[in-house]
Formats: sequence, C-alpha cells, structure tokens
Amino acid sequence: MKQFQFEYTSIGKLKRELDKINQWRKSKVVSEVIFEFYAEDTERSQIELACEIIDKEVPDAIYLGCSSNGNIIEGGLSSSSIGVVCTLCEFPSTRAKLLHYVLTPDTVSDVVQDFKKQIAKNPWVKAVSMLVTIRGMSMSPFCDAFTDIDPEIKMFGGGAFNPDLNNDEACVFSKVRGYTSKGVVFLLLGGEDLHVMSTFITGWKPLGREFKVTKAEGCVLQELDGRPAYDAYYKYLNIPNNEHFFNNTLEFPFFYKHHGIDILRAPVSSDENGALTMTADIDTDVTARIAYGDPWTILESIQRDGRRVADFQPEVIKIFSCAARRTYWGDDEISKETFPFQSIAPTSGFYTSGEFLKSDGFLNQHNVTLVVAALREGPRDFNVHFEMQNEQFSGKVSMINRLATFIDAATMELEEANAKLEIMAMTDSLTGLLNRGEIQRRINDSLELYQKSGQIFSLIMFDIDNFKKVNDTFGHKEGDTVIVKLADIAQKMVRNFVPEGSVGRWGGEEFMVLLPNVDSERAVRVAEVIRTTFAAVDFPAAHHKTISMGVTEVQAEDSSDTLSVRVDGALYVAKENGRNQIKVL
Ligand code: GH3
Ligand code: MG
Ligand code: MG
Repeated sequence: MKQFQFEYTSIGKLKRELDKINQWRKSKVVSEVIFEFYAEDTERSQIELACEIIDKEVPDAIYLGCSSNGNIIEGGLSSSSIGVVCTLCEFPSTRAKLLHYVLTPDTVSDVVQDFKKQIAKNPWVKAVSMLVTIRGMSMSPFCDAFTDIDPEIKMFGGGAFNPDLNNDEACVFSKVRGYTSKGVVFLLLGGEDLHVMSTFITGWKPLGREFKVTKAEGCVLQELDGRPAYDAYYKYLNIPNNEHFFNNTLEFPFFYKHHGIDILRAPVSSDENGALTMTADIDTDVTARIAYGDPWTILESIQRDGRRVADFQPEVIKIFSCAARRTYWGDDEISKETFPFQSIAPTSGFYTSGEFLKSDGFLNQHNVTLVVAALREGPRDFNVHFEMQNEQFSGKVSMINRLATFIDAATMELEEANAKLEIMAMTDSLTGLLNRGEIQRRINDSLELYQKSGQIFSLIMFDIDNFKKVNDTFGHKEGDTVIVKLADIAQKMVRNFVPEGSVGRWGGEEFMVLLPNVDSERAVRVAEVIRTTFAAVDFPAAHHKTISMGVTEVQAEDSSDTLSVRVDGALYVAKENGRNQIKVL
C-alpha cells in the first residue's frame, strides 16, 4: 500500500501530482487506486473540476470526498483548502467499491437496507469507510439501523462539515454519483491481504460527581437530576450563558456510556429554560459526568492508545477528528495531537461534525473524539518494532490533571461516606435490621404498588412474651441477647422463604416483616417457622422464650394506618388468647 498526499492549490499543481502518481505506477502492479478529497470549501464547481481532472488523468481510479472543517495532510492541519490523498493498493487480492446514496431522514431505512444487500453480495468486505452529511439530522436511527451487520466488518467515518461552524451546508461526492448536498458515501474495502484496525481516542477524562439524565430529546439535554441541565454548568463551572458558552463548555463536555462505549457530547448553546443543545443526540436515563480536557491529558492518552496503532504496523492511517478539537486547541496547536501518528505511517483525514465508529457491533456517533483507522496489506513483520514518536508530550503532569485527580479522589471518599450514612440511616444499631422508619417507608411503597398494579403483600408483627421478666430477672444484657437472636432468626427465615421480603425492628422487642407478593396463608407459614425456631432456642439464663404474632394481608381501601391497626390488633388478640401463637386478621 502506497500513499501520496498533497494539497490542491491549483489545477496545474493537481495535474503535476497526478503525473507523479502515474509515473510511479508504471513500474508497479496496483489493484486499486483510491482518491480521497477533503475540502474546506463547499463550492460545487471547484470540487467538480477536480473530479473531472482525476477522471481524465487517472481513469481507473475511484474517488470520494466531502466538505470539512479543516484537513489533515501528512499528520498536520493543512494550510490549503483542499487536501488530496491517493492510496494505491499493491496486493492483487485487495478490493475497493463505492456506494453513494442521497441521505435524508426519509431515506435512512432504504439506504441502510440497500447497503446491507451490497455487503451480503460482496463477502470480501472487511471495512467500510463512511463520509456522511449529518447537519440538521438526528443520526440515532441511522446508526441503530447498522446493528445487525457482521460484527467482524469494521466501520468508521466522519460527518461532512463546513469551514464555518455555524453553517449547516455540507456535501459528499464520489465517482459513482457526483456531488450531493445531502448524502452518504461508503468506501468498501477488503480482500484477504488487507488488514484493518480502528479505534477511538478522546483524551477527555470524567470529573467529579455523577448526574442522571432525567430528560432529553434528540440532541436537547433538558434536565439533569430533575433540574435544568444548564444549572450544572453554572453551579459547578461558573460558565455564564452568553456568546462564549460554546468555547467555555468545550473544555468540559458531557461524558456517558452508550452501548458500553465512552461517548462525549459538547453543549452548543443553552435556551432560557436551561435546556442545552448538544452536538448530537443524547440518551435519557444514563448516568453522565462532566469531562475535562487539557493538553497534557490529551497527549498522554494519544501516547498510550497510539501504541496499539503502532503495534498494528499500519501502512496508512486515517483520522476523523472533531471540529470542536480544532476549536479547543486552536490552529497553531491542533497538529500536536495528530503529528505523533505521522511517525507511524502517512496520516490524513479531516475535521468533522461527528465521528463514527462501530464498536462491539454498534455504530456509535462520537463527538470531541479522534476516530483512527489503520490499514495494512500483507502480514505484520515481527522483526520490526513500530513506535510512536510524540515530541509534544513532555511527561510533566499538568496542574489541571492534578486538581482533577484531587477532585476525583475527594468525590469518591464523599460517595463512600454517603453510602455508609445511607445504610446507617435505615438500620437499627442493636440488631442490624431495618429501623422503623425504613420498614414503614417500604410498607408505604408496597401499598402504593398494590393500589397501582394490584400486587398484594402481607405483614407479620410479633412481640416477645413476658419479656419484662427477662430484664428484671437476668438483666438487660441477657434481654439484649434474646432480642438479637430473634432478629437473626427472623432475618434468616425471611431470606430463605421470601428473598424480596424485609424485616424491621418496630420498637423494643417488637418486629415487623413485610412480604411482597405473599398472601396471608403463606405469611402464616413463614411466621410459624420463625415462631417455632425461636421457641426451640435455649438461652444461657432465660432458657426458652416464646413470641406472639399477628398476620394480615393488604385489602382494598387499606391505608398505612388501617394496615398497622389491623396487624397490631392481630398481635393483641394472639396475646389475649394465651401468647405463643399466631392470629390472622
Ligand atoms: P407481653 O407478653 O405482653 O409482650 O409482655 P412483655 O413483658 O413483653 O411486655 P412488653 O412487650 O410491653 O415489654 C417490653 C419490654 O421490653 C420493656 C422494656 O424494658 C424492654 N425493652 C425494650 N427495648 C429493649 C432493649 O433494647 N433491650 C432490652 N434488654 N430490653 C428492652
Ligand atoms: Mg412483649
Ligand atoms: Mg412489646
């Protein structure tokens, strides 16, 4: 695999470069010639002219391209508006094929269906490189439609963009369909000697506490933890909602897991209700965190993840990088994160409005991310060791990275402390059972569920018989031993017979058991096991003790009060009737 990369500055320059390519070809056998164009320009006539010249000068070549927010040529941001990358495949088995469709929300399903047919017809396909116009369109239905294609087939690509971040105009073009302002081009690549790897790198790291996305629709993130999403940016980062909002939030995009993969979304703007418009669709009910980016952390992760790319020994590398990264770094610095790849293999690509990568069988749309694809013909050479040079990375840890580590450690300590407090707040310290407040709360929840869905439950209330005597005769300590033993028995029996049941300490030596989905008949059987097991225990001083028990099942029109009154009444009757027995009411 051989690659020529150059900047298209004039027709003369293009022709000279094509001559060079044709000269090189004379002495070689090539199986495929693929031109990729990235144009920081959407002007149709300019693009069509370049295509015409290629058609004429290299008639057997295929070509594809798109408008972009900047081009990566030889590992760095290109200074001219059109970058051209010509890849020549040298193994006879290597194959390439173009598919090009008009893409609108209405054509998504037809496009993907036909794409799948083509994949089935061309079993040699190993990878698909995709250029797609996405602006003003939700890409979730598009991505989801690819879910059942062969997981072995790699897919990666980028969203066509515009030199102006606020302009939605974009285009994709190819040899098979020419110029389309709304479209998708797939470059199918394969053959037995072609090897492809793909990965993504963000370098942004999650920071601090978690938020739950409680309301979101498409790319609008409405609420976090039930509050306007913008509040989080204001409260934790002090970012005001003004014309600098996008630039300020870019360092702190949103981070969450989608199909098990780390996804970033940057807020673009905030409306008067505090709803954030994000760079692409966001899921509801996911746990998200704010992430931070700083140069050191980004270069460190490129250094780390770049090693895997180097190990693959690619002959060429493609990068689909987010336009937001270019804004974040600025034009003078942006190449710092792409140059290291050029030390592995010729690297080209463009700044996108969304990066696409299939991971674990799911096609995901990323933002603020580098999607990297590496290609090679033929086997790896195990005698050669590829390494990534990263002169930009000094290894000195940045201040923000240290502070972020500090915040993360402090947040984790607080979360652990909170979890402990939460458990303490609902447990009884003597017995380890739920306390009265917690068991009452669970009874109320069960009652609500019963009223909504009709799922029944039963309660057992029990109290030790003549317990005062234990305290009076053998002391309070022996009394405590008896209480704890009874608590353990009840807990163990309920766990065995009704694992979803709860046991609580209601008062001194009085207990309450909640049995969801259990009727009074079964509740009596559970009660009976507790009663007999406890009665069999021989305490050191007090010897055998007994309990009296009341059982009741929830009834229509019950309130939490009528339930407690009834189960308490049942227990009272059991006591009245001579203790050591169960009464159902
Ligand atoms: P009955 O059969 O009618 O239930 O008679 P009883 O003597 O058990 O009467 P009651 O249930 O009213 O007695 C509760 C006693 O439990 C009073 C109190 O001293 C004792 N008690 C309450 N909490 C604790 C505790 O945590 N430890 C100990 N040792 N005793 C407790
Ligand atoms: Mg008692
Ligand atoms: Mg009592």
